[in-house]
Amino acid sequence: VGMKIDIVSVFPEYFDVLNLSLFGKAQEKGIVSVAAHNLRDWTHDVHHSVDDTPVGGGAGMVMKPAVWAECLDELLGLEPVEMGACDASEDAAADSAGVDDQPTDEQPAADASEVRIDRSEQPTAVDGIHAQPSDATDDDTQAMPQSEADAQPAAAPGTVLIFPNPSAPLFTQRDATELSHAGRLVFGCGRYEGYDARIPPYYRAQGVDVREYSIGDYVLNGGEVAVSVMLEAITRLLPGFMGNADSIVEESYTGENALLEHRQYTKPAVWRGVGVPDVLLSGDHGKVDRFRRDEALERTDRIRPDLIAKLDCRRLDKADRKT
Ligand code: SAM
Repeated sequence: VGMKIDIVSVFPEYFDVLNLSLFGKAQEKGIVSVAAHNLRDWTHDVHHSVDDTPVGGGAGMVMKPAVWAECLDELLGLEPVEMGACDASEDAAADSAGVDDQPTDEQPAADASEVRIDRSEQPTAVDGIHAQPSDATDDDTQAMPQSEADAQPAAAPGTVLIFPNPSAPLFTQRDATELSHAGRLVFGCGRYEGYDARIPPYYRAQGVDVREYSIGDYVLNGGEVAVSVMLEAITRLLPGFMGNADSIVEESYTGENALLEHRQYTKPAVWRGVGVPDVLLSGDHGKVDRFRRDEALERTDRIRPDLIAKLDCRRLDKADRKT
């Protein structure tokens, strides 16, 4: 059974293109199955409204938690839970969900077993966030569980709920690799000023593995493009997705010591008077490998010195050190 993907958006038709190209073929082969849902299907008012004005004032509109929750509860097979008055800060949520375990650039990549649902820890309240009375309207309650009694069967293990968010940690190849081991991904596309900040901690408190990722230091109009980017980076790593499995092994950002890739050329060897490096025509595989490795190191140092700074020098060979 392939990876199951649900995408929730106010523009689900945006994802019609997933029927094309390699993604379309992967669906035909059963490697992935995708369903795009319209968030407005979970509204009850005549205008199908999914947004409201920001609490505390300010410009723009914010996506309502109640609509998202009806949708996500149904997709994840969860019952609504009335939460106790406690903390919904990012720190408390991260502690409770073990999201600090997410691989960082300093930590080794997680293996398949890292994609999991961990319901063993209950979140604890910390100072700094004012508590709401427990009889406050559900839209206003800081959403964290009160006790073990609030626990309910978790969404299926291997399910990861992902929200694109420009103010979240950057999505990297390492995240793509980790998430390619998940059984099911549910993406929630934000719009307007974004989604109500209580949604991710609420679902973490329900035992769901929730991630928020930015795809870069810029602001898009909505999460649809960001989801497309993440989805492609993740699914091309699935066995059988790419026609040639080798093509994903030696790529930029990939492997223990991730570098930018060396430059690539195809025939003819001379095009409009511009030749390829002679060594690539030498037929000497050792020399070609060394040339490419040197170029990868040199380019990474020049273009992305931050990646060079993260290299594990013990994994470099003697010739690398000279470069
Ligand atoms: N008010 C938000 C801020 O300043 O951080 C920006 C909201 S943006 C206009 C609306 C939605 O687009 C976000 O909720 C998110 O889903 C998506 N989005 C925009 N830029 C993104 C980025 N760089 N990475 C991931 N998602 C992004």
